[in-house]
Amino acid sequence: MTADQAVRRDTGDAGLAARAAAVLPGGVNSNVRLAASRTFFERGSGPRLWDVDGNEYVDYLLGQGPAFLGHAHPQVNAAVTAAVSRGMVFGAQHALEVEAVEKLLAAIGWADMARLGVSGTEAVQAALRLARAATGRRRVIGFAGQYHGWLDTVLMAHGPDGPRPGSAGQPPEYLADWLITPFNDSVALERQFSAHPGEIAAVILEPMMCNSGAIAPQPGFLERLRELCTANGTVLIFDEVVTGFRLAFGGAAQRFGVTPDLAIYGKALAGGWPVAAIAGRRELLEQFGTGRVNHSGTFNASVMAAAAVSSTMDVLRQAPPYASVEEHGGALIDGLRELGHRHGVPLNVHGLPAAFHVSFRRDGAAETTVVDHATLQSLDLDRYARFSRTLARHGIWVAGRGIWYCSAAHGQAELADTLERFDRAIAADA
Ligand code: PLP
Repeated sequence: MTADQAVRRDTGDAGLAARAAAVLPGGVNSNVRLAASRTFFERGSGPRLWDVDGNEYVDYLLGQGPAFLGHAHPQVNAAVTAAVSRGMVFGAQHALEVEAVEKLLAAIGWADMARLGVSGTEAVQAALRLARAATGRRRVIGFAGQYHGWLDTVLMAHGPDGPRPGSAGQPPEYLADWLITPFNDSVALERQFSAHPGEIAAVILEPMMCNSGAIAPQPGFLERLRELCTANGTVLIFDEVVTGFRLAFGGAAQRFGVTPDLAIYGKALAGGWPVAAIAGRRELLEQFGTGRVNHSGTFNASVMAAAAVSSTMDVLRQAPPYASVEEHGGALIDGLRELGHRHGVPLNVHGLPAAFHVSFRRDGAAETTVVDHATLQSLDLDRYARFSRTLARHGIWVAGRGIWYCSAAHGQAELADTLERFDRAIAADA
């Protein structure tokens, strides 16, 4: 079915939206989904999705990142299916968890040990706890526009007056240890270290900010950050929940050539299965092993999680998708920019081929170089959020916040379909 036919089909999802609204707050199971249109999907395969009305979409949301190999990857799903037939959770050890972590460490390259968990949010908590235990300090430096999960100790809204709790019911004092500074600003970072000598337990960041546009680090920024952490005895934590296995097999650490002390992985780690990991230097991770620092979880390293990680690592090693992701994403970025020019629309596209951000400049505004959360706000993000719904009606499934993720499964057919659909969506929006 072409997108043109798909656009027209709207049978009202067989009453699912009404049923969902009656039993699920907001009709959704994650607040991140509140902003999206209530589309109900029936299936996903490779780079495409089909909703319950039969409409087909090229998917650049990828479940917010996990479907990096494409939806329902046959090799990963076969490995998980075979493994779970022998049981799922033992509350004890099994061979697959060792195999999975060995392969994970081989992929990352720099880390000595890792633990598996279920969500990125909890792995972040584990990393902050390790850093505080190791240093005996409390303060943490983070960056404006960051997202490190939804829990009380990390959730923030970033406004012009600085950070504030991101949710009602969140005690503000839980955020009292944070020092928030702009991404890509080494001078501001140095100032934070000078103002709080001997107090900073950790710096945590997405090495490429994918929750604030798709902002790559400026040359020298991560290197200076590494130097400052080493000089100050501060634990450097890379939150690679988005960037891990996406920007390179070894994640952002490999891509940008800077090594953290701890890193958190999730999303692309397990071919769509819910798994996260914390990895890092032996002397830090060993604090879990001695029992001094607690890290627990009934479902940690379940059979399905371990099988999914192990086979995802195999797929990424045997058929590295990085060159094709670069090629597809690069061609897409060029194509979208060209469509913006052709339609006289002030489209703004920035980032890297594997993860880039699409938005609009405000009327009459010159091209903006997006380097941090503040410069991102100069774009017309609301206009793009509205446009993302037009894109959905034309068969392109994207996040309303502007991020586009390319997968290993996107190819020439998706490129052609996407550019054609985007072209018609812009025309329809004019
Ligand atoms: N860290 C980053 C950078 C993320 O983007 C996310 C989720 O989007 C998280 C942490 C939290 O991960 P999860 O949603 O698996 O709890």
